[in-house]
Amino acid sequence: MTLQQYDFIIVGGGSAGCALAARLSADPAHRVLVLEAGRPDYPWDVFIHMPAALTFPIGSRFYDWKYESEPEPFMNGRKIYHARGKVLGGSSSINGMIFQRGNPLDYERWAADPGMKDWDYAHCLPYFKRMENCLADREGTFRGDQGPLVLERGPVTNPLFAAFFEAVQQAGYPLTDDVNGYRQEGFAAFDRNLHRGRRLSAARAYLHPVKDRPNLAVRTRALVSRVLFEGRRAVGVEYSQGGTTHRVSGGRVILSGGAINSPQLLQLSGVGNAAELGALGIRTVQHLPGVGENLQDHLEVYVQHACRQPVSMQPAMKMWRRPLIGAQWLFLRKGPGATNHFEGGGFVRSNEEVAYPNLMFHFLPLAVRYDGSAPAGGHGYQVHIGPMYSDARGSVKIRSRDPREHPALRFNYLSTDQDRREWVEAIRVTRKILGQDAFAGFSDGEISPGPGVETDEQILEWVAKDGETALHPSCTARMGTDEMSVLDPTTMAVHGLEGLHVVDASAMPYVTNGNIYAPVMMLAEKAADLLLGNTPPEPDTAEFYRHHQV
Ligand SMILES: Cc1cc2nc3c(=O)[nH]c(=O)nc-3n(C[C@H](O)[C@H](O)[C@H](O)COP(=O)(O)OP(=O)(O)OC[C@H]3O[C@@H](n4cnc5c(N)ncnc54)[C@H](O)[C@@H]3O)c2cc1C
Repeated sequence: MTLQQYDFIIVGGGSAGCALAARLSADPAHRVLVLEAGRPDYPWDVFIHMPAALTFPIGSRFYDWKYESEPEPFMNGRKIYHARGKVLGGSSSINGMIFQRGNPLDYERWAADPGMKDWDYAHCLPYFKRMENCLADREGTFRGDQGPLVLERGPVTNPLFAAFFEAVQQAGYPLTDDVNGYRQEGFAAFDRNLHRGRRLSAARAYLHPVKDRPNLAVRTRALVSRVLFEGRRAVGVEYSQGGTTHRVSGGRVILSGGAINSPQLLQLSGVGNAAELGALGIRTVQHLPGVGENLQDHLEVYVQHACRQPVSMQPAMKMWRRPLIGAQWLFLRKGPGATNHFEGGGFVRSNEEVAYPNLMFHFLPLAVRYDGSAPAGGHGYQVHIGPMYSDARGSVKIRSRDPREHPALRFNYLSTDQDRREWVEAIRVTRKILGQDAFAGFSDGEISPGPGVETDEQILEWVAKDGETALHPSCTARMGTDEMSVLDPTTMAVHGLEGLHVVDASAMPYVTNGNIYAPVMMLAEKAADLLLGNTPPEPDTAEFYRHHQV
């Protein structure tokens, strides 16, 4: 047992954790410790750093926590596989590198809670700008050009992208300049977290440049098992590393373990629903019934077409091409290894009742599953599609006092009328786009879901059978002021306790309408100011696009 003293202990060297570590240790007077359960993101590790290798870490115990949901009641009892990064950089070291801020109205929705008024878009926009260096827009009102997260825009040079952008217009949807700028609604090339052909994870962007600071310590392969309390104050954590149990004490403990691990660690430490904790023999430090509740995610499917022209990225998937692609990437940082393939897509409102887009599309000039399995064979292309703010809610609950045992995850995908309706709309809009003349010279027929799936019932059956997570679990320790909220929005401190904060995807009240890495990073940037007591930047009231002008 060792006992050491820090000002800030950050549990989890993942996306939010790396940003916090860099910001909190900027003042040499603050001693900061990062405890990360996974291993380092070694510079030689091509599976992390080569963008096109993104499918390899998924399912590997060297990078992935390898979660699985409980049988999903509305998905034929299927257990849905959930990858989560278990390595320095967390999920940002294994994710798809797609950078989406979400719609400005997502943050207006957050700010509807009276205690959350400082989380509207005007208050969040300065932090989005602070964190990014958007190479495609150096002068605009909405983008940053000085931050650590370098963003490259997808080149979208494959001819199938031209067909896709033509098809969306033929189907009646607009193009937009920048889905992260004035107008999200529409279709465009996407920004990616990669630079000069290499993944730019949160670890690479934030942590590595400052890792030699004498006031910053980073320990990997260190699994935190509980938060230590003196009365109502968090005073440190217990963790195991190399078979030894350690204790460290700190002024502030910040949980950044992600939307599954942070509520798990709260529950293991006695913060959660008192009745449920009591049933497992855990003494309650703070009764907070919202811990682990309100779980949200995005479910997605792939609508795939065979392509009659030999133009897709399919040759790059062939085993025998891989050594050449790897060598090209290694020596030149170019070629098929240097892309994440998610170069473009867009956002659509599928009905007139929604105020802002409820569907996101990613277009791939390739027919393949996200984890790299079951390639459709031959040339093809596909659209990843799914509703963006389903009202289905799930939970994360520990099953035992063992920190190594995975908690029970219930998502309840497809459990609500709104969700099911939007799923039917999603498939119909996708087919409308892919059925346009722009694809006439390319399409050799729909591979999936295929011609047997036409009625609403058949579509829902197919989604239940084929849907996979888009890997955005969130909202399990949400900010707010009602009795089911967990965090004080002005400090991100756990209600009723001192010295304990949660800063990661758990803190969101509602999932945003896009991939959630960028919102998590914005949240971490803002949290750093809140934790340090810095004067926040002036709100940025730039007008953004609203379909319904109010
Ligand atoms: C395969 C995959 C693809 C994705 N693709 C995209 C994409 O293209 N674009 C996008 O925007 N989003 C994507 N996401 C989602 C996005 O990456 C995550 O939502 C986001 O990175 C979460 O950040 P976080 O800080 O909440 O958690 P994480 O980045 O997951 O960090 C949590 C860290 O805490 C560590 N940890 C957890 N528990 C403990 C403990 N008890 N002790 C010590 N350490 C602990 C973990 O090992 C991890 O490093 C993807 C996610 C995955 C998994």
